[in-house]
Amino acid sequence: MLTRPKPLNDELLISWLARLANSNHVTLRELGRLLVGHAQKVLGSDVDRSIGPALIQRLASIARIDEHTIQRTTLRSYEGFLFERHSPVGQSRWTMPIGKYGNRRLGFGQQYCPRCLATDRKPYLRRHWRLALSVFCLCHRRYLRDSCPHCQSPVALPVDSQAAVGECAICHGDLTKDPKPIHRENIDDASLDHQQRLYCILESGWANLPRGRVIYAHLYFEGLHSIWRMLAGGGYGERLYKYLCQERGELALPLPFPKNCGAIEMLRLPERANLLSLSAGLFRDWPKNAQAAFKAAKVGCTDIADRRGRTPFWLAEDLRQSLYSRPYWKSQGERIAAAQYLRSHGQSDSRNNVARWLGAWHVLKNKDQRSTVVELARRSPDLG
Ligand SMILES: [Zn+2]
Ligand SMILES: [Zn+2]
Repeated sequence: MLTRPKPLNDELLISWLARLANSNHVTLRELGRLLVGHAQKVLGSDVDRSIGPALIQRLASIARIDEHTIQRTTLRSYEGFLFERHSPVGQSRWTMPIGKYGNRRLGFGQQYCPRCLATDRKPYLRRHWRLALSVFCLCHRRYLRDSCPHCQSPVALPVDSQAAVGECAICHGDLTKDPKPIHRENIDDASLDHQQRLYCILESGWANLPRGRVIYAHLYFEGLHSIWRMLAGGGYGERLYKYLCQERGELALPLPFPKNCGAIEMLRLPERANLLSLSAGLFRDWPKNAQAAFKAAKVGCTDIADRRGRTPFWLAEDLRQSLYSRPYWKSQGERIAAAQYLRSHGQSDSRNNVARWLGAWHVLKNKDQRSTVVELARRSPDLG
């Protein structure tokens, strides 16, 4: 290596690799070959997410920097802050996919700020631009971009030319130059403040809640993710979405999120800007606004739960008092445990008996008697 530039403040791994290659007059592909003998081992996947300890060790020895510095450029470094466990493959909470297909990118998971790139002494990609909660550049108070302004392709760095960070890998256009610039962007100050607060929580590792409570940042982001997922997912979320639109004096248009989008991390920037704006309203004067909104939209505790039926405890605790009151749907685990208990005590484990024992709806077999169904759930003190 002729020169060994160090990663810059909050620089993303691929960006640093591109600068390392560029400063040594080789392409990213040639650098990949130098590192592990086969460039695809480095460039064939989302290296920012999936880099392993062996490659980090090799890079550290080549670039003569400590492994921890390289670790900080990866998305794994958010482990314990943004999510509890990092997942190098598959869906990952808050980390946007770049959808690698050979050397091409199909996903719009790499964002950037044109002004940051234009004003950087050495243009580089920031690590936090890969996060779904990043919508604005707080330095320039502008929306980020998630595609090339010239060819609208997902943002990627050229692997076969010694181009500086900031050049589109597809059309080789300059990402900092927009052929159709928007001179005055409609920026919502509440959303900016909300994103700023989220960054503070992410950086500090903890979040303050009312009544002097403090929780780990990843638990806070788990709750925020539940709300975003519900708002984008239709169903009960659509009721909440419409209520929040009406509150803002806007027309409650049909849900602007694509059906079956799979995950909020797959959403494009304008859709996530909408989610950020909605959650800014919910989290203002927490939990009063959210309590009123959930109650008015008739959204219950189980509606925020994930696929396993879990609701982050702090969210359930803060919203429980005001959530729309309707019978709590017992989980499969609770039903199995109740059936086992009944069997071990020589009682019938029929569906009806289990439901009755759990304090849920008691369904009578006789059709004529259904009008007298007893709603035991409403008497239960642990209703969500
Ligand atoms: Zn910027
Ligand atoms: Zn392009």
